[in-house]
Amino acid sequence: MKKLGIIVVAALSFGAALIAQPVMSTPTAQAKTKVSVVWKKSMGKHSYQVNASKAKGAYAYTSKLGKKVFKLSNYPNTTFYTKGHEALKIGKSTRIYYYIQSANGKKAGWVWRGYLTTPIMSQSALTKLINSSTDLDPSATLLKQSSAFYSKYRAILRKNYNMTGALTSFTNHQTRVYVSNAGLKSYVTKAMSVWNKALGKKVFIAGTASKHDLVVSSKASNDWDGLNDGTHLYLSSTALKDASYVNSVADTPEIRDLYNQYEDVAQAYKSAKAGSSEKASYLTKGHDLYTKLIAAQKAAAPTATNYWESVLVHELGHSLGLDHTPYLTDIMYAETSDDGFSSSVNGKYSWTSPKDPTQSRRETPSLSTRDVDRAKLAQKLGYW
Ligand SMILES: [Zn+2]
Repeated sequence: MKKLGIIVVAALSFGAALIAQPVMSTPTAQAKTKVSVVWKKSMGKHSYQVNASKAKGAYAYTSKLGKKVFKLSNYPNTTFYTKGHEALKIGKSTRIYYYIQSANGKKAGWVWRGYLTTPIMSQSALTKLINSSTDLDPSATLLKQSSAFYSKYRAILRKNYNMTGALTSFTNHQTRVYVSNAGLKSYVTKAMSVWNKALGKKVFIAGTASKHDLVVSSKASNDWDGLNDGTHLYLSSTALKDASYVNSVADTPEIRDLYNQYEDVAQAYKSAKAGSSEKASYLTKGHDLYTKLIAAQKAAAPTATNYWESVLVHELGHSLGLDHTPYLTDIMYAETSDDGFSSSVNGKYSWTSPKDPTQSRRETPSLSTRDVDRAKLAQKLGYW
């Protein structure tokens, strides 16, 4: 009777392992306790942590699962280091076990590798990574972390990469876009495909009048070109109707320089004494600069198709959870961190002028690497 008792206890101790791997048939008490070593090798030092969601009720063991040494869930934040690994045949299944020990060596034992996970980066390591990579552009390393990493550092990542959070509702990484203004259909189709291609999946799909997550239409406005509140995306019908509107949207270093000069002269004109020769000369200068400015804008103007498609790519970026950046070369660029229409960017820092002033504003339906990387991060954060 006593002997049988031991077998029953041993069977229970493997219960958790059985639940975690349903591949194993339900063996008899005898089969369960039959453990043999298939191979055993030393192993380099790699760091691991207990995978809390998988290791519920699981243990570290002595050799060949002889005895329980410690319960894994009691050490959720401990970093363990590997020393050796072995393949154990348990009943009919073969599993790889790692011999792990804590830094001080006090906790050590054999653990099925399925209960382990690579440790989440420390916050100081994350700060270092953010500071050493391109501004506002999540690096490849940052984009290949575990889901535990993204949930742990959600707030830090959101702030450091100017995310606005989930704006439009997505199901299975897709959102349905319905274009209620037929005239905008080709623009919207193009803008959707730009994102879909860049992300390698159909994130934006066509919706219908009755089934959709986002409606695209137009609305009169002199203040904005595009606006997205998460369920409705509008283009300015006022600007759309004005064929010459695109002649005023270009933003190049030359245009910014002429604009600044013009502003200075306008200010000087205002301050100059009425009727003075200075005032008259400022007026002439002002006219001259204004003429040059208009000509420069016209020369650099995008086509209407390119411009409106680029506005839509920008607005769809908001749907993915992206807020603005200060880089002219990003489709998510905005002149200031507080544009007065949407809420100001509660991001990494505020700005009132572009960070890449030698560049021209992106006014084609295309994305920068930073735009794409940020959208990928947005998915990791669960925004789409
Ligand atoms: Zn915007």
